[in-house]
Amino acid sequence: MDGIAGLPVVDHHCHLSPAGEGVRAARRFRSAGGTHLFLATQNYDAEVPTTLDSYLRQFETTEQLARAVHEGTGVQVPLVVAPYPVDLVQAAPTLGVPGALDLHLRALDLAGRWVKERRAVALGEVGWPHFPVPSEVAAACRSAFRHALEVARDVGCPAVVHSPDLDGAGWEQLEREAGEVGLPSHHVVKHYARSRRPSGAGGTTVPSYLARRELVNDVLTDPGPWFLETDYLDDPKRPGAVLDLATVPRRAAALARSSASAAEHLAVPFLRSVEQVYGFTPELPRELP
Ligand SMILES: [Zn+2]
Repeated sequence: MDGIAGLPVVDHHCHLSPAGEGVRAARRFRSAGGTHLFLATQNYDAEVPTTLDSYLRQFETTEQLARAVHEGTGVQVPLVVAPYPVDLVQAAPTLGVPGALDLHLRALDLAGRWVKERRAVALGEVGWPHFPVPSEVAAACRSAFRHALEVARDVGCPAVVHSPDLDGAGWEQLEREAGEVGLPSHHVVKHYARSRRPSGAGGTTVPSYLARRELVNDVLTDPGPWFLETDYLDDPKRPGAVLDLATVPRRAAALARSSASAAEHLAVPFLRSVEQVYGFTPELPRELP
């Protein structure tokens, strides 16, 4: 049967690479019961992008990967595009901080146009570096993030946030920043959440939890919205660095076997959260290609 317990099965954040497993990894996801992969763009070259054109080519590569996965496996692959927040740090030595910021803002605008044209469903990853950077660069990163929230507001899509781990105050800060630009907080998704969000912190901002067994068990009864993800990297040089792409469907299948109520809870990350945050209903695939 497609999906698990009659539900679509959604990995909310992964990367694929033309130099990695690509469609083969997606096939593993599909055989385990997966139906929807939210595919985030990434740098496919060794060098950090220093022109808008290189971002355009990067997004196009991601789009081609999505199409290849869909045609090869039947999995639905919503696209998530943006300049990676750390790019700004890495481009600064070449372009200068103002030049790197300017490029970053234009690349965010490009990503916004892709959402408007329905080539992508969200901006991501946007945010700020997960490591300390010089204060001038940190300030540029903050204004880039603010612009990302504004673009998301203007095109009416979610912003998928890359950041260090957040504590309660961090979640609240995120909610506040979204509020300041008028982005609804259910359009702010913190990806790679590695622990349960403290209850009451961050309003309706949305955690996308890493699909580790203990964490999934811990958050399963939360009413949502929340997601599950692997952040699969598809990097042949770093096999096993992250969860495998088959993790979400395998975890879901094990839970669905264990109890009927688990299947009900899984409707939160796989169905209702997608509806609430992205505004569409993930359909079960009709047939295998
Ligand atoms: Zn990622």
